[in-house]
Amino acid sequence: MLIVCAERALVEAELVGGLLGCPSCRGVLGPWGHARERVLRCRVGDRRLRPRRARCRECAGTHVLLPEIALLRRQDEVSVIGVAIEASVAGEGYRRIASRLGAYADTVRGWLRRFAERAGLLRAHFTWCAAWLDPELGPIAPAGSGVADALEAVAIAARAWSLRFGPGDPWQIASRLSGGMLLATRAPAYPWTR
Ligand SMILES: [Zn+2]
Repeated sequence: MLIVCAERALVEAELVGGLLGCPSCRGVLGPWGHARERVLRCRVGDRRLRPRRARCRECAGTHVLLPEIALLRRQDEVSVIGVAIEASVAGEGYRRIASRLGAYADTVRGWLRRFAERAGLLRAHFTWCAAWLDPELGPIAPAGSGVADALEAVAIAARAWSLRFGPGDPWQIASRLSGGMLLATRAPAYPWTR
């Protein structure tokens, strides 16, 4: 699985041009059909996705190219999930957040639980990303709780990315920086190093 730009034509050009690296071995990925279609719940309504699949020319492993608006195994757009996390850290209850976003309360509670469980790991990962993107960056001040610290690290890493590569939606950047694993069960797969 690899997180790519949401712009389909750009992904196609990168794939055909051999510009996408294999997350397993750093070989070059080539086109390999499509993954099954899925529906992503977005702020602007449902969006049908049929992600591209790619195959590594070195190790022959196949990878789904998930657009940065999505997270691995989550049906909702990452920006919607991000809004819920921000609201929760600001003190809003999950039921209110769910009704405001038009999502199921259990779904929202699931996002918040997973984010809280992974708060320490996410803080460490995004702090590392921020420092990698901006070596001049000083230490990140504690924000008052585990989840607030994690959210702060996500925001700072997204800002560092924007300063370096141009503006973008902070949560889409977070999706990219976590390799789509922001709310997964495994550690974030950082696509470049480590
Ligand atoms: Zn490979």
